This record gives sequence, structure tokens and C-alpha cells, in this order.
Amino acid sequence: MPELRKDPITGRWVIISNERQKRPSDFQVERVVRIAADQCPFCPGREALTPREVFANRSNGSAPNGPGWELRVVPNKFPALKVEGGLEREGEGMFDRMNGIGAHEVIIETPDHSKTLATMGEAEIERVLWAFRERILDLKKDIRFRYILIFKNQGAVAGATLEHSHSQLIALPIVPDFVRDEIDGARQHFFAKERCVFCDVLRQEIASGRRIVQESADIVALEPYAPRFPFETWLLPKVHGARFEDAPRHEYAGLARVLKSVLTRLDRALEQPAYNLIVHSAPFSEEVRDFYHWHVEVIPKVARMAGFEWGTGFYINPTSPEEAAQVLRDVRV
Ligand SMILES: [Zn+2]
Ligand SMILES: [Zn+2]
Ligand SMILES: [Zn+2]
Repeated sequence: MPELRKDPITGRWVIISNERQKRPSDFQVERVVRIAADQCPFCPGREALTPREVFANRSNGSAPNGPGWELRVVPNKFPALKVEGGLEREGEGMFDRMNGIGAHEVIIETPDHSKTLATMGEAEIERVLWAFRERILDLKKDIRFRYILIFKNQGAVAGATLEHSHSQLIALPIVPDFVRDEIDGARQHFFAKERCVFCDVLRQEIASGRRIVQESADIVALEPYAPRFPFETWLLPKVHGARFEDAPRHEYAGLARVLKSVLTRLDRALEQPAYNLIVHSAPFSEEVRDFYHWHVEVIPKVARMAGFEWGTGFYINPTSPEEAAQVLRDVRV
């Protein structure tokens, strides 16, 4: 019997059609497409092909915009939004608009063209997380920005145009809807119960264990109760915190370790799927400290019934999170 499940945070309903339970081998997984390295603008020695770096790790003291780096952050050559200018723009009658202000940056995670986040070392992944933090703290000083979106599209079909492992950052003058929905839901829960809904979810999930993929001292990786997509996986800090950039040092180390493990599990269970990774953190100008809880969402790209979802607004997920958690737990890492 298919089941309707309600996400405890956003109130969003999903259909878990577990009567046609799908195993990993049943999925049409969208795979990572490998592209030759010889033209890659993110490889060392081709720094001139990217805009000038805004941040880099250069432990050997090498000069900016040349080789010798461990990680580089550069503005996106084809930004979705532009940094210059003010926000004001006159609307059109009842329709609002705003100038397309924003920063759009690329975090080149490693000089090694062949590595992925899953095959990088834990220290390298941790360096990527610290770069996210550095860039957030810097861009936060610009009062025009209200939210910084950090995401990664691994594999061509998940939206990546270059294979060399990288993430992206977009600073926005507005708070995106998917974060807004989580904040609104979390606020309601807090007003009713005076507790963080994410902390409540964590407590129940750790006690039951059914949807836990992995648990460390700092971080829990789990399949949410009402996932939109098969093998949708969330990573949350165990100790409450609203902002990724304010996390204590040991949580970055813990997140790097669990993230590597989760991505390796997904790679083995689904044979290197393309995926999206998104960091969800509190907007800058809002007081949500008590009830918003930062986290990372990883969503593998697997084929699904798009038509029904567009038509009804419901997500249909053919794999229950209990099944997905079991499959991922069973992978040897
Ligand atoms: Zn490359
Ligand atoms: Zn919390
Ligand atoms: Zn989220």
C-alpha cells in the first residue's frame, strides 16, 4: 500500500510507493560523465583561464593566480547574478522586481582533476568546508546579501558543466523558498513546543535507528522520514546550531569524515550516481538561532516520475527511507 508521509519540518507531503519497492539495481541512475583533463580550466597551470582568485589555500607560499594551490575560489565566469549595483528597481504594477545583485563563486576543491569529494582525503574535504566558512564570513559583511547558497552538482546530469571537482556559492539578496519553508515550519514548532524541530527529529531518529545511515560523535547521517527522492540523505550536527559558519572546529572534522563515508556508500550502492549537495544554513538578518538547525542535504540523481510531480506538487518516492538506510548501512566502507 503506498503511503503518504508528511515532512515534520516543512509539512510537505510525499508519497512513498513502497509496494513497488525499488532496490539500487532497479534505478536508472544518472551517472557521472568523465571529460578529458587536457582542456580543463580548473587544473593547475591554467589559472589564467579563470577570473582572479578571491581565496586560496597555498601552504607552500606560492603566488596568487598561479599553480601551487590546494584549493582555489574564483568568481564564476558566467555568473547568475552580478555583484555591482544597488537592489532598488521599480516594480511593474503589482509585480515586484529587484536588481540581480549577488556573488557567484566557484570553489575548486582540489588540484587533482581525477578526484571526487568521495575519493578525497578527510583533511581535503575538511579544507573545502573551511573554505565555505571563509567565503560566507567574508560575503556576510555585504549587507545587501541575506542568504548564501552553497551547493555542488556532481556529474554532468546533476548540472555540472565541468568535471573537475568543485562547488558553487551564490550570495543572494533574498532567502530562497526551500529555506523559507524550513524556517517557517521550524518557527511554528518552536512556538508550540519551545524546542528545535530538527533536534526533536534527531532525538527520535537516534532512538529508533531505523533511518540512520551513520552516526559519529558530532554528526548524524540519516534518511529523512518523508524524503522527496530515493536515497535523499541529510547530515546534521548533533549539537544545535543555526549557522554552518558558526560551527565549532570539531564539527567540520566530523562532517568531513561522515560526508566522505556517506558519499562512498552512495557511490557503491548506486554505482557512482550524479548528485546534488546543498548546505542549508540560517539567513543572515533573521533571528532564528533557537529553532533553525544547519544541515547538509545530498540528493542522488535517479530517474523519477516528473509528470505527476509537476501536475500535483506531490513527490513520489519509490524507495522507503528505511530501505535506503538499510542499503547504505550495509555498504562496506
Ligand atoms: Zn581539471
Ligand atoms: Zn536543533
Ligand atoms: Zn534542508
